[in-house]
Amino acid sequence: MADNRLIIFDTTLRDGEQAPGFSMNTAEKLRLARQLQTLGVDVLEAGFPIASKDDAEAVRLIASEITGPVIAGLARCNRADIECAGESVQAAERARIHTFIATSDLHLERKLRISREDCLQAVIDNVTLARDYTDDVEFSAEDATRTDLDFLCCIVETAIERGATTVNLPDTVGYCTPDEIEQFFTDIIGRVPNADKAVFSTHCHDDLGLAVANTLASVRAGCRQVECTINGVGERAGNASLEEIVMVTRVRGDRVPYTTQIQTTALFPTSQMLSDLTHEPVQANKAIVGRNAFAHEAGIHQDGVIKDRRTYEIMRPADVGVAQSTLVLGKHSGRHALKQRCEQIGVELSRLELDRVYREMIDLADRQKTVEDTDLSAIVERVRAQQAPSETRPTQQSA
Ligand SMILES: [Zn+2]
Repeated sequence: MADNRLIIFDTTLRDGEQAPGFSMNTAEKLRLARQLQTLGVDVLEAGFPIASKDDAEAVRLIASEITGPVIAGLARCNRADIECAGESVQAAERARIHTFIATSDLHLERKLRISREDCLQAVIDNVTLARDYTDDVEFSAEDATRTDLDFLCCIVETAIERGATTVNLPDTVGYCTPDEIEQFFTDIIGRVPNADKAVFSTHCHDDLGLAVANTLASVRAGCRQVECTINGVGERAGNASLEEIVMVTRVRGDRVPYTTQIQTTALFPTSQMLSDLTHEPVQANKAIVGRNAFAHEAGIHQDGVIKDRRTYEIMRPADVGVAQSTLVLGKHSGRHALKQRCEQIGVELSRLELDRVYREMIDLADRQKTVEDTDLSAIVERVRAQQAPSETRPTQQSA
């Protein structure tokens, strides 16, 4: 694998599905998994099998139906979890067990109530056990970015020694800044003697809105797997957004020179499918996939986009699977956009008609936020009906 190729690890069906309001049944998970396969993700985290019977069933079904991506099942560092995950992903063409344990003192003392020694032993026992099921084992140190660095280096070295092929160090609570997480990965990768035997992975949360920036900073420091979700869904404020990471590499390859195997034209359809399945709308101004991401209402912007879309668009809507940019008719719109929209619905206006329709459109936009095609048709009809015969048929008199 080329050194600048990123492994896209999608966790929409695990971290994303854990978020309030985002739960899906087995059939829905399988539908989304098929779409993620079309999208071209490298690793598809299908669920947390020990969490419930339904979760285990969904992981099993996805493992047996979906080919192409590696299918991962999550497991805590204990025997029951690993056995359950191992059995659930068994049917996959390429199966991965993703096992994790918290490593920060806060989590060890307050949540797990175990010592650092116990934690290290759990890593030794369970990475070894996971390797009995598959050669593809990912180890995660939960709350890694708030873990004592010496202890974390020791944990990472041990996990790799015991057979972990991917080491994921999450910013579990979304607390890092980009410069900080870059330094963090540089330190760990530089200090762990067997670091070259594993792929390093980043998993960033968006509590401060820095998940994508932190992901890209981690990549600069040597991470080659990025964990992310469709629409950035996930625990609390969510995970790093897959579509944003991918499009940064496409649009700004000059500054962010990494490649992925994502079919970008499937980004918008995938986003829509997730939104439909969960009945959770995508934020209107969400980058790449929000309904306003390629919409223009201001007259100056509309005029620019009509003349040359590059004036206000840095990527083509079609590249991410959006049919075309939309010129939203509202009170900020100009005559150019109105004329174009009328032409799109099959109406050609004279200059006089355009003026009248424009005035009525602005009037309506003051009362309702946007003017839909049906409103526009009604306005055109009204304006034409009001016109004197001499205005509508200027040629008749001379005939
Ligand atoms: Zn997470």
